[in-house]
Amino acid sequence: MTSKVILFSYTNYPSLISNLEREGVKMGQNGLLRHGSFTFDLQGVSRAASHQIVRHRIASFSQQSQRYVKITRSYGYLKPSGIPEDLKVPVEIHGQKLDLTFSDVMDLTRQAEEGLVAKGIKAEDGRYLRPNAATTNIVMSMSPRQLIHFFNLRCAPDAQWEIRDLAWSMYAAVSLVAPQVFGPLPAADESDYIKKRVLLVSDLVQKQTEMFEKTPPGELFHLELQPYLDFAHPVDGFVRKY
Ligand SMILES: Cc1cc2nc3c(=O)[nH]c(=O)nc-3n(C[C@H](O)[C@H](O)[C@H](O)COP(=O)(O)OP(=O)(O)OC[C@H]3O[C@@H](n4cnc5c(N)ncnc54)[C@H](O)[C@@H]3O)c2cc1C
Repeated sequence: MTSKVILFSYTNYPSLISNLEREGVKMGQNGLLRHGSFTFDLQGVSRAASHQIVRHRIASFSQQSQRYVKITRSYGYLKPSGIPEDLKVPVEIHGQKLDLTFSDVMDLTRQAEEGLVAKGIKAEDGRYLRPNAATTNIVMSMSPRQLIHFFNLRCAPDAQWEIRDLAWSMYAAVSLVAPQVFGPLPAADESDYIKKRVLLVSDLVQKQTEMFEKTPPGELFHLELQPYLDFAHPVDGFVRKY
């Protein structure tokens, strides 16, 4: 399943800077970090990743309800690429032995959840069967200063692959719309991995800035992230043009 990172609302820094200057206030990058907000719609992310994301306390979140969104067998899940599609594990239930793939187990949990609801169990209780791989949508707003903290932790090589892919996608999106605020990440000083990727983001942003500028206001610009960044899972990046 492809995750989507959509930056759909953000502070217009050129306008903020010129308005402040008109009032005689001059601000450098450090000053600008204290002002502004970025709102992302993260779609198709696993519950495992959304749980990691909401650990960041200096942010606002709205997450898709599991109680009220009806479950169907077509609901999404994210399979880690490290688990081969055809890998089977032996399980035993009621004396019967079965060899199941990851997808088989996902299908079973969805059938069981649907079955409970069909038997009159409330959806809010049925959802207790849902695995960490089940996907969700989450809207997140953060200030630039907190985003940098988030990127320093979650773009790092020891961060888990899914949240790391999301964090790099978000970093690319904010680098496109607010280069005045988001330069190289402070964590790049201590990590060659981060340093290399910051350069790749700078390159991909440079190549796509002209196309972004030509995007009609209000439309979503598709920010190409792969193959520039070798992600562990497919992520599509989008940025709304003002
Ligand atoms: C690689 C990695 C592995 C992890 N593994 C685990 C794990 O095994 N178990 C686990 O539980 N968590 C784990 N975490 C999550 C981690 O412990 C943090 O909860 C998460 O990274 C959010 O970081 P934060 O608290 O700095 O950020 P935020 O909550 O966004 O806060 C940002 C900063 O604001 C300040 N701040 C925020 N709230 C307060 C407060 N109430 N009082 C004082 N200062 C505050 C702090 O300086 C903080 O650093 C892991 C994180 C990473 C990156």
